[in-house]
Amino acid sequence: MITIGVLALQGGVAEHLSLLQKAATSLSSSPDTTTRADTKAPQFEFIQVRTKDQLAQCDALIIPGGESTTMSIVAQRLGLLDPLREFVKFQNKPVWGTCAGLVMLAEEASAVKKGGQELIGGLDVKVLRNRYGTQIQSFVADLALPFLGEAEGPFRGVFIRAPVVEDIIQPARQIGGGDAETTTGTAPVEVLGVYRKPSGAEQEDDDIVAVRQRNVFGTSFHPELTEDIRIHAWWLKQVVDAARHGDLIVNA
Ligand code: GLN
Repeated sequence: MITIGVLALQGGVAEHLSLLQKAATSLSSSPDTTTRADTKAPQFEFIQVRTKDQLAQCDALIIPGGESTTMSIVAQRLGLLDPLREFVKFQNKPVWGTCAGLVMLAEEASAVKKGGQELIGGLDVKVLRNRYGTQIQSFVADLALPFLGEAEGPFRGVFIRAPVVEDIIQPARQIGGGDAETTTGTAPVEVLGVYRKPSGAEQEDDDIVAVRQRNVFGTSFHPELTEDIRIHAWWLKQVVDAARHGDLIVNA
């Protein structure tokens, strides 16, 4: 049994739990024998995490979207910040942050407004919070996410007051396109997805919206607000691999 927690201090907890459940069901009934073989033994238990003891039960964790400043204050008050850091950085358990969760997992965040916040860290990146503006500037955009498989078609990325990765503190490695990395030492930050702005947009550079570094995965957007289980299913497979091998495999 693999226990997966969703940090339930604030934000989109129920949505993640629901999509995790759907993804787990689809994996266990997948006609794809590779997938089935990968996931046959593990059964998943999904729990909400509000305490250190609940966190200690988890093999992997999702930090949902919401508001990272609030999440950070609540985590601090509950004495959860250090246990979360321990979970991510020293126990190296698989962790996925969506939107505010990505902010929490960054080593640095640009203070768009005055007032810093405590982060958990784990990803050697600097994020720019609220990159696209306020709630009313929320948008949906098709993203090409090669790690899901080229044939699978675009993923509808839901961006709500989303952060982007504005800096990688280490050299980036495009997935599938570089030197094999060892799992020892510091792992590279992999860019797993970018948002390509429509041509004619004021600033046309791609924004980095999905990254992974060893056990830590982050997305700027909200897969849990769609019906598309592909990223949740992909991540569950990563978690299974990590549980089997006692580590996360670096290559997808
Ligand atoms: N802007 C929020 C933050 O910085 C994130 C928004 C979201 O999670 N949808 O925490």
